[in-house]
Amino acid sequence: MKEAAFRKNQNTRRHFFLRGVVQGVGFRPFVYGLALRHDLKGWVNNSSAGVHIEVEGEKKEVESFTRDLPKQAPPRARIESFWYEDLAPTGFPSFEIRESVEEAGKYQLISPDLATCELCQEEIFNPQDPRYRYLFTNCTNCGPRFTIIKDIPYDRSQTTMAKFSMCPDCRHEYEDPRNRRFHAQPNACPRCGPKIELGDGEGHILQVPDPITSAISLLKEGKILALKGLGGFLLAADARTPSVIERLRQRKGRPAKPFAVMLGDLTSIKEHCRVGEEEERLLLSPESPIVLLRWKKDSTIARDVAPRQKYLGVMLPYSPLHHLLLKESGMTLVMTSGNLSEEPIAKDNEEACSRLHGIADAFLWHDRDIYVPYDDSVTAVVSGQPTIIRRARGYAPFPLCLPFPLKPILACGAELKNTFCLTRDQYAFVSQHIGDLETLETLTHFQRTVELYQKLFRIQPEIVAYDLHPEYLSTKYGRKRPEQKVGVQHHFAHLASCLAENGERGPVIGLALDGLGYGTDGHFWGGEFLVGDYGSFERKAHLEYVPMPGGAAAIHNPWRMALSYVYTLLGKERLTGLRPPLGGQVEEEKIRVVRQQIDQKINSPLTSSCGRLFDCISALLGLCLSVSYEGQAAVELEMIADPGEEGRYEFFLQEEEGQEIIRLQPLIEGVLKDIEKGTAHSLISGKFHNTLVQISVAICRKISSQGGPKKVALTGGVFQNRFLSERVKAALEKAGFEVLVHRLVPCNDGGLSLGQAAIANFVQQ
Ligand SMILES: [Zn+2]
Ligand SMILES: [Zn+2]
Repeated sequence: MKEAAFRKNQNTRRHFFLRGVVQGVGFRPFVYGLALRHDLKGWVNNSSAGVHIEVEGEKKEVESFTRDLPKQAPPRARIESFWYEDLAPTGFPSFEIRESVEEAGKYQLISPDLATCELCQEEIFNPQDPRYRYLFTNCTNCGPRFTIIKDIPYDRSQTTMAKFSMCPDCRHEYEDPRNRRFHAQPNACPRCGPKIELGDGEGHILQVPDPITSAISLLKEGKILALKGLGGFLLAADARTPSVIERLRQRKGRPAKPFAVMLGDLTSIKEHCRVGEEEERLLLSPESPIVLLRWKKDSTIARDVAPRQKYLGVMLPYSPLHHLLLKESGMTLVMTSGNLSEEPIAKDNEEACSRLHGIADAFLWHDRDIYVPYDDSVTAVVSGQPTIIRRARGYAPFPLCLPFPLKPILACGAELKNTFCLTRDQYAFVSQHIGDLETLETLTHFQRTVELYQKLFRIQPEIVAYDLHPEYLSTKYGRKRPEQKVGVQHHFAHLASCLAENGERGPVIGLALDGLGYGTDGHFWGGEFLVGDYGSFERKAHLEYVPMPGGAAAIHNPWRMALSYVYTLLGKERLTGLRPPLGGQVEEEKIRVVRQQIDQKINSPLTSSCGRLFDCISALLGLCLSVSYEGQAAVELEMIADPGEEGRYEFFLQEEEGQEIIRLQPLIEGVLKDIEKGTAHSLISGKFHNTLVQISVAICRKISSQGGPKKVALTGGVFQNRFLSERVKAALEKAGFEVLVHRLVPCNDGGLSLGQAAIANFVQQ
């Protein structure tokens, strides 16, 4: 008796509680295997809060289990917190995986969808394997997650896989802790899982022996195919045939905005693009994003895929369907969201059939539902660092972890490239890219996704934050909600977003260059030097105000901005004497109307926007008089900039009511003179970019010499311009500043919600 008690006391029982991405990533099988290796008894289960584990056995083994648990965790797991306590031993008979439990109000982190892993790829290409050419092959290391989850805990019954019941073989894999598919919730095989069908342009099912082979034939004939992927329908088409690309552009209503392409493997990508080490790492990562790569001049991909671009958006196959299509066709495919320009991506079969009618010639679809739409993410390597430009598949809904606790907040984001952000504990759940909140369809998608995140992460917001722009649909939505309200100035939110993702508290100089954001004075800001932290900001300097004749018309027609700058800063004579290229292209009548709008202040709001200044220069050079997508004029100006040019234009500063106003008259005059002299446009663009670098350094120096911070946050959509952002960063660092940039959330309005949330968190109640 005594001896038995003694032996039992030698045993240790330890209870662990882990949080982070620990579900849907093969964590429980890993724990099971680890426990067996250490000869421990006990159990593991998922709860809506995280993973609980109890092990019991020899003290030495329990200790080494405790050490190995975080160290050897599966590659896709992310342990955010690790807690344990010792309990009295109870004598467990074995180690088991217990049923998942729901803990009231508790939540867990959810893994994003992940690209097909190598082992699954081997299976789908192995003719001897039961999953040979099976399009829904996945395992605990790869496949759909977030797009199929309706609620937590993450179990098959709470996913869109619930309607498929596993065959005995799949069930066996699912229940075998040593199997790669142990508790892989979307596990399926050709016998029991989802099936694929090919439909014609009307959505009528075509009776073909092999939908993939038929789909490939259609693609080779130059047809446009709608593919149901992980997060929605993508349109696929032959990227090497200009007439196909032209047809796709016409049908989609997207005349110029670049498309992304998918290639079968890294070797083929390298035929068309230059791939650096970091870029290669991004391409091959489980997130498998689109990466903007330098496009080789001798590439055989049709130039019209990305007209007038130096960079091409490229991705590797990330689902079994892509792998098969690319490998068996040997093609290079354009892959673009299945939607009309700027609408949300279509996700349901019926919806796709009606919305893509007339765009797609055929539909390759299946019967696994997508619960939430999810676009491809876009990344680039900037100043040697991976940087997210559009954050969706592979990244969301994984949160950012901030260095301070957050109240329950909903930040509604901006209008264009909208994301929202929900917070609790240390976490900022920045949503996937929602889109441009300009249509009812996008607004509905926004509202549905807010509700989903609130449910999945058990967040009941107490504060709602939104932009000051009264016409943003996100602002109107926020104002209607019942919670306490906080309006946040646009560029202040940009500054805070950059601080938050860098885990900093400020104060910092926020160099916010973007298109337009509603200012506290009712004008449209966008060329701003702010000093602030999460609590408050001061506007220290800005580009001088000029009118935007016609309001929205000026945004869509950069030639209007060119006329406005010339007329406002240089006068009537300079306007009527305008030389080509712009001078020849805008009729006298239009010039007269614009002048009238400016003189009589008719629909001509004032702006200090840096984006509009880019528009002006782009139009003066005749590059882009009207835009068909946001930022087009600026992008095209960036693309021609000569990196060897070292000259710049003049500007001067004028103090007004404690703010530095950046006067641009010498800059505009300089550009006009260069045009008159016949200077190459690439040199003019280079000089213009250098001028902005010079302005940035001069003002930051001035602010810090007056006791301001020596730290600068570069933020706002203009910093998507790599030519500019790399040069501004380098120049500021050379001048002794510490420079913060965006990496994890976009520098454009896609990152705004994070900043709004961080600011709302510090508002005094
Ligand atoms: Zn896999
Ligand atoms: Zn099966």
